[in-house]
Amino acid sequence: MSYNIDNKISRKKTKQIMVGDVKVGGDALISVQSMTNTITEDVEATVNQIKSLENEGADIVRVSCPNTDATKALKEIVNTADIPIVADIHFHYKRALEAADSGAACLRVNPGNIGPEKIKEVIAAAKANKISMRIGVNAGSLDKKILDKYKEPGADALVDSALENIKLLESNNFDNFKISVKASNVHTMVAAYEKLSLLTNYPLHLGLTEAGTYVSGSIKSSMSIGRLLSQGIGDTIRVSLTADPVEEIKIGYEILKSLDLRSRGVKIISCPSCARQAFPVIETVKVLEEKLSHIKQSITVSIIGCIVNGPGEALNSDIGITGGGKGSNMLYLSGVTDQKISNDDIVNKVVKLVEERVAETNA
Ligand code: SF4
Repeated sequence: MSYNIDNKISRKKTKQIMVGDVKVGGDALISVQSMTNTITEDVEATVNQIKSLENEGADIVRVSCPNTDATKALKEIVNTADIPIVADIHFHYKRALEAADSGAACLRVNPGNIGPEKIKEVIAAAKANKISMRIGVNAGSLDKKILDKYKEPGADALVDSALENIKLLESNNFDNFKISVKASNVHTMVAAYEKLSLLTNYPLHLGLTEAGTYVSGSIKSSMSIGRLLSQGIGDTIRVSLTADPVEEIKIGYEILKSLDLRSRGVKIISCPSCARQAFPVIETVKVLEEKLSHIKQSITVSIIGCIVNGPGEALNSDIGITGGGKGSNMLYLSGVTDQKISNDDIVNKVVKLVEERVAETNA
């Protein structure tokens, strides 16, 4: 584990590439990605979903390009979106050529599946359009030769496949790419990225594939992506959930926020509540979370049920509430006591203070 004295994670410095205007790798912020789940040819639905993702803070969005209608639609999608679009290509290299010409910022391909001759055309298209690529190795679609060698899609097989793909691209004088080695098993995925990180300096796109439903997928992604990020491994992340992709962005940010790697929106520190709570903590936090969901600026709010932990948490918060007897809770501003506040006033007061802080900063 690599922490410095301030508990900050020291990140491994990888090569930096561009995905459109977003830097990935090197000293760039860890970007948060998702993928649309609309029919790509339904341009309106796809663009609307991209806008929702963008609004939630997505830095990059991937769009499937399974056929020519999709790569045609991609042109319109790219022209309307304000963030870089990665074209997701499987099997047919011609979709990659079309996507490059349609304005994709990056091509997600598995070069091994495309083959050594056809990948040359894909590389030429990427170079001509000055776009990057992602080598997307996935335990579910490893090539047969690797599977025959390793018998199972374990970490060594994933890394071997990634190294072969790297060699293939480098032998064609192309190094403008990032890499992913995804698996649905937490241990396999973590081991693959740990190993790959020791063997290459290309930026790594972290993701646990087929992670599952909202709750279990979020936990498995946090465990795996979080474990790697804590070691300084990873340059961009995608949380895969069987859920609305907007939730993937929210969870992605929560992972980065919890490791102090990025900040966005209101970070609520709250206690689980117990018999000592002086106001209904759970209900208060639930309403506050909803009412503050539009805030993009980084602000820390602590909502703590009693004096056991309230004053301490308030010290590290922009705005803090600590429960006090008979409805006389204490409001803290930047760790300093400000005024007593009744249970009924907590939500409105906190929302007002947060909005005032945002307005002051933006003035
Ligand atoms: S801070 Fe107070 S109310 Fe909250 S869980 Fe701890 S003891 Fe209970």
